[in-house]
Amino acid sequence: MTILLNATPAPARDIDGKAISALVLDEVREEVEVLSRQQIFPALAVLLVGADPASEVYVRNKLLRAREVGIRSLEYRLAENASQAEVLDLIAQLNADITVNGILVQLPLPAHIDEAAVIHAIDPIKDVDGFHRENVGGLVQGIEVLTPCTPSGCMRLLHETCGDLSGKHAVVIGRSNIVGKPMATLLLQADCSVSVVHSRSVDAPALCRLADIVVAAVGRPGLIDASWLKPGAVVIDVGINRISSESGNRLVGDVDYASARTVASAITPVPGGVGPMTIAYLLKNTLIASQLQRAVGIRQAEPAFV
Ligand code: NAP
Repeated sequence: MTILLNATPAPARDIDGKAISALVLDEVREEVEVLSRQQIFPALAVLLVGADPASEVYVRNKLLRAREVGIRSLEYRLAENASQAEVLDLIAQLNADITVNGILVQLPLPAHIDEAAVIHAIDPIKDVDGFHRENVGGLVQGIEVLTPCTPSGCMRLLHETCGDLSGKHAVVIGRSNIVGKPMATLLLQADCSVSVVHSRSVDAPALCRLADIVVAAVGRPGLIDASWLKPGAVVIDVGINRISSESGNRLVGDVDYASARTVASAITPVPGGVGPMTIAYLLKNTLIASQLQRAVGIRQAEPAFV
């Protein structure tokens, strides 16, 4: 047997979110084609209030990807100074419109609008973001509901990378309603032992070093480096942080990629990791919404609307 002294461990392999999201989009496209042969045409309505440049980009990408997989995409725009009543009126119209299967309100909303009131005005069966309290409750109880897109995408990345997750210890860093909490719930449903670390946790790096799987959703560039990781850990970096420098703007995650990949066995890059999965799962959710609506007998879009 040859023993290599001072051998440098192999760097982590990249978890390719672009390639895995392409698989998900193919699955959605195939399903949409099957439905279209039955004269069923899933449709997603996206509402943007105001003109936040980052939100404009997100909405454009979502609508583009929807069209690519054959999902009808409907764009609604309201001015920055639109009233809450106007937003709620539009949502009521979309709720009542049988040709619309999914409703997404791009967040954040302008400060004068109550975000929670808007989210909870969306019919839960059309809530493709999975943020409505009825869907949140269903997720915790393990009922089939619309589940937040980013955590769903992270679970797919983990399954593609690790296969069965049963018995693994997962640490989720961050406890937001849109990422951290649903992520922890999904990992628990996959039979992981789950710890959630947050800003009040004592010695977060030590807790994290116990993990086979680390999911970072914090919003702090490069917070998690090699010293937070157990050798061989699988790292999912949800963070998207815009860094400005003299050489221009770039996106970085919550994980110090160069440092972490010397210890981890697999890691998502930023960009190209979790980001593409979020859009893919939004479209998958639109399909699921259409299926759930058919299951409860809501009539679907007429061909004339396509
Ligand atoms: P958020 O609502 O601001 O939540 C951040 C969480 O991180 C909070 O729970 C906070 O703890 C915790 N935290 C802050 N500092 C910490 C520290 N030093 N140690 C441990 N925990 C700490 O953020 P979010 O909406 O979940 O988003 C997180 C990141 O993911 C952001 O960069 C966001 O842009 C990105 N994101 C990416 C996607 C995607 O598609 N890739 C989707 C959504 C979000 P407390 O609760 O104690 O305050």
